[in-house]
Amino acid sequence: MDLERLDRVVEIDRTSRAARIQPGVYGPSLEDQLRPHGLTLRHFPQSFQFSTLGGWLATRAGGHYATLYTHIDDLTESLRVVTPSGVSESRRLPGSGAGPSHDRFFLGSEGSLGIITEAWMRLQDRPTYGLTTSVELDSFAQAVEATRALAQSGLYPTNCRLLDPAEAYLNAGISTSGGVLVVAFESADHPVEAWMNRALELVADHGGRAGETKDRSASATERDAAGSWRSSFLRMPYQLDAMAQRSMVVETFETACTWDRFEAFHNAVRTAAQRAVEAVCGIGLVTCRFTHVYPDGPAPYYGVYAPGRWDGLLSQWDEIKAAVSAAIIDSGCTITHHHAIARDHRPWYEQQRSDAFGRVLRAAKDGLDPAGVMNPGVLMS
Ligand SMILES: Cc1cc2nc3c(=O)[nH]c(=O)nc-3n(C[C@H](O)[C@H](O)[C@H](O)COP(=O)(O)OP(=O)(O)OC[C@H]3O[C@@H](n4cnc5c(N)ncnc54)[C@H](O)[C@@H]3O)c2cc1C
Repeated sequence: MDLERLDRVVEIDRTSRAARIQPGVYGPSLEDQLRPHGLTLRHFPQSFQFSTLGGWLATRAGGHYATLYTHIDDLTESLRVVTPSGVSESRRLPGSGAGPSHDRFFLGSEGSLGIITEAWMRLQDRPTYGLTTSVELDSFAQAVEATRALAQSGLYPTNCRLLDPAEAYLNAGISTSGGVLVVAFESADHPVEAWMNRALELVADHGGRAGETKDRSASATERDAAGSWRSSFLRMPYQLDAMAQRSMVVETFETACTWDRFEAFHNAVRTAAQRAVEAVCGIGLVTCRFTHVYPDGPAPYYGVYAPGRWDGLLSQWDEIKAAVSAAIIDSGCTITHHHAIARDHRPWYEQQRSDAFGRVLRAAKDGLDPAGVMNPGVLMS
């Protein structure tokens, strides 16, 4: 089913700062339609250029901001979903405690229950103030503690991306023994110096050495900000594609875990990944960064770089992925933080969710899609 022509922002409620939007709109076109109103959805997944509002809602996508309003769930006010058994439309409400959430039920349903045909989305004013800096640390353990301090400070930085030494070297060209923490703040309302200063005090308590703080305010650096967005974020997948064309196994996997378990988890999953890479490819590199941080834990995102076999890249990756997925689930973490389930992740998702919840999902599927025509095999068998 092709929703590409459902690509419009249909209505804007400036007072409540929300818009009624069709699901087939791609990221850039959505922002182009909101910009003249001084508004933004402010949801920028790495796949922004080639993914749609409907896809973000159906997969519960995560944007590239590290804290607070970055997940599509939190930006959703109401949904209209057409199912084989009828239309489900929730009321526009800023919040509601009336039973299980209508919208959260369909968010992440990956097209298996119905088609999202329209959504009222919460918008934000376009930011005018912004500051960013990077902080170098001497050991990865210190870097994790500095990041935790910031995540638990209540400052809610816009960016709080920890890169381990290998990530820092590969993707930022920085050589460091403990890693680099990229910190940024932005606001549409007030200057953010005070927030940045306090954040740098917190990370300094853990040995963090901040570089120059750069102005990212809209007036000062529109061109600069756009440049860094393209180079650090949009170009990364293209670089991976180029390496894959040279027979490299280059892939990622991601999860989330609580801070108390992070050290043991990280050691277990890195060991499993490194062993699998060496067994399948001979040698290889496993890197780690945090894409999102919460007061109770980080979302670690791992990169795998290894020499592959030209005709066997997919099966080589499948073998590595199975080993790391088992390690993730055995450690009690999630099979995905923001990359959805589909069919690929289903065996591990079935271990993650409870049997009771699995029965609820099955019953919902049978009730809404009795003929089983909506994305068969996705989320459930
Ligand atoms: C290089 C790369 C980077 C990525 N970065 C991120 C990231 O930063 N954050 C993130 O969260 N994800 C990321 N992803 C994963 C993916 O892009 C997201 O999950 C995205 O939300 C999918 O949107 P889409 O429009 O491409 O959906 P599709 O891939 O077309 O569809 C995804 C699923 O949703 C269903 N679906 C689509 N539209 C609807 C609808 N209107 N109603 C019901 N079901 C629907 C489809 O049937 C399918 O099951 C990335 C992927 C790649 C390849």
